Parts: sequence; structure tokens; C-alpha cells
Amino acid sequence: MTTNPPKHPNTGPSEARLRIGHGYDLHRLDELAPNGQGRPFMLGGIQIPASRGPVGHSDADALLHAVTDALLGAIGEPDIGQLFPDSDPRHESQDSSVFVKEALRRVMSRGFGIVNLDATVVCEHPKIGPHREAIIAKIAGLLGVDTGVVNVKAKTHEGVDAVGEGRAIEVHCVVLLAAEG
Ligand code: MG
Repeated sequence: MTTNPPKHPNTGPSEARLRIGHGYDLHRLDELAPNGQGRPFMLGGIQIPASRGPVGHSDADALLHAVTDALLGAIGEPDIGQLFPDSDPRHESQDSSVFVKEALRRVMSRGFGIVNLDATVVCEHPKIGPHREAIIAKIAGLLGVDTGVVNVKAKTHEGVDAVGEGRAIEVHCVVLLAAEG
């Protein structure tokens, strides 16, 4: 005998007043070009002085990519790689704020606003702490929200694995949306 699953108050995306989204990104870090493949170290739209930088097709900003994926995830859309394929030459060296703005446009077109966004950057070098306020202000500006809506935390990987050995940067991000009106 089969039983039907219990009915929930929100039965589908069209009725939900709140939507949560998760984004994750990782970029390999390498010596800066021309000695290696690393790009200037962009994080949250801020350039940070560093001897190694992320490898990627766009500007390789792992934080903005995770923010983009969290926004897209919250509205059930495909991820950044499907919307902006790295096989597309138009995205070569692309400023990743373009991806965030497109994700935000899709969120707003569905009638949602951002309640809050919380991200964790995992990176051995460079130290993110001194740039935290600038990064938060930059992301808040891109999203058109108060800085209190955005939080960015940073930690190391305790010297363990690729991230801990300084060979990669990793970002986790969650965002909560609420239907407006
Ligand atoms: Mg990425």
C-alpha cells in the first residue's frame, strides 16, 4: 500500500514566499602570468595583491561565481557554467560582475528580493581579512542592497589538501530570497 507524502504549505516554487540558494566554486591558483596561468587575484570584485592568482576563462572571481550560483539556485535556474559557457569567447577575461547582474535580473524578474547573503572564502594566501569590508561593500553595491545584507567570512584550510597547500581557492555561499509585495 502506498501513502501520499504529506502536503506542505508551500507546494511549489510559484507559491513559495521564501527561497534559499546555495553556490559553490573552486578555482585553481597558479603563479601570475606570464610565469604561470594565474590571473590577477579578483575576489568579490576587488583586486587583491598576490603572487598567485586564480586560473579561469573569465576573470576567475570565485566569490562572484558562488554568489551568481546561489542566486540562480534560489530560483531553480541552471548554474553559471550553463548560462555563461567557458567555451564562449565573449566570456574570456569577463568581469564577473556581469554574471551577478544577470542572475540578479532573473531573481528580480520573478518578483524576489534578497533577504541576506552569507559566503565563506577558504584560501591560504593572500589573507582576505584586510579586504573584507571592501568586498562586502562591492557585493552589496552589485546587488543593490545595504551592506548589512551581505556577509563574507574567510578561513584557511589548515594547510591540508590543495586549498591548504595554496593551489586552489574555494567559496561557499548561501542566499535567502523573499517574494516582494
Ligand atoms: Mg568559477
